[in-house]
Amino acid sequence: REVVNAAPQLSDELMSDNARGSKEITVAALQEAIENEQLYVVFQPKVECQSGLLTGFEALARWQHPELGFVSPDQFIAVAEKNNLIDLLTRLVFKKALIWFSGFCQQKAFSNIASTARPLLCSINISVLSLRNLDLFNTLDALCQQYGVAPEQIMLELTETGAMDDAVASLDLLTRLRMRGFQLSIDDFGTGFSSMLQLVRMPFSEVKIDKSFIMTVNHSRESRLVTKAIIDLAHSLDMLVIAEGIEDEPTLAFLQQLGCDKAQGYYIGRPLATSEVDSWLVERMNLVEKLRLERLHAL
Ligand code: C2E
Ligand code: MG
Ligand code: MG
Ligand code: MG
Repeated sequence: REVVNAAPQLSDELMSDNARGSKEITVAALQEAIENEQLYVVFQPKVECQSGLLTGFEALARWQHPELGFVSPDQFIAVAEKNNLIDLLTRLVFKKALIWFSGFCQQKAFSNIASTARPLLCSINISVLSLRNLDLFNTLDALCQQYGVAPEQIMLELTETGAMDDAVASLDLLTRLRMRGFQLSIDDFGTGFSSMLQLVRMPFSEVKIDKSFIMTVNHSRESRLVTKAIIDLAHSLDMLVIAEGIEDEPTLAFLQQLGCDKAQGYYIGRPLATSEVDSWLVERMNLVEKLRLERLHAL
């Protein structure tokens, strides 16, 4: 029985502020939610910074509890990590993301607004705790086969802070994942400590600058300097850079100027329920066409 996003799929737009606040959730409730597939997945677009063309989506877990309403991912991911439920959760997110993504890739409706430089990617967040569990990655491999998605089209996002803890063990596992074809992204970059060493040693293909810097570039010189330094460092190591948390045009323009490769944020696209993806694509197509004409006129 394949149930794609069985839970009611509310878009992020409909999340009330109250729903974003913290509330008591029990381990049992979370376990039940995972087992009954009450969790669902939304997809936030990632685009090329210069052209605005689509490069892929990031899958983000959502939980709509029957009584509590929306529970924020920061909250339930932490509970899952503390209570040994994270691998189960990852498997569910991965499965739901693959089911939607493989269907999306087949319909080809996106082909005129997708970047042709590389195949479309689906990014999945992986808790660093999962790096201890080689088994999980056999499962991910098997799911890729089952849903006909090449590992090359999957980008695993790991958060910087944790990836650091056990660098040697993670290096071994990360290298194996790369050899299987999975792409690796280092998430929330700039918030941890031994960042430089991490970057040089680990087989990442993408660096994601943390939104705390991106959301403040308009008024903080410090954030602008850090952002530029991360872009230059990543490029000198032959990695692509993406900025998350872009909320306005001046921020996007600044990143374009610095040669940032990819862009993600509310200004480009909110995390979308699967039912919202098509209308976002139409909007994006119009925008990309408008930008193309503007560029033509400027010549
Ligand atoms: P993340 O991976 O760094 O994801 C980015 C977060 O920033 C998401 O929050 C996204 O909705 C939000 N965001 C995107 N663009 C903007 C913007 O322009 N402005 C602002 N203010 N926020 C923006 P979300 O969905 O609440 O997820 C929070 C974190 O929870 C994620 O951070 C990730 O670390 C974790 N998470 C979410 N889903 C999963 C999952 O399936 N597995 C694991 N292990 N972690 C997950
Ligand atoms: Mg992420
Ligand atoms: Mg992030
Ligand atoms: Mg984060």
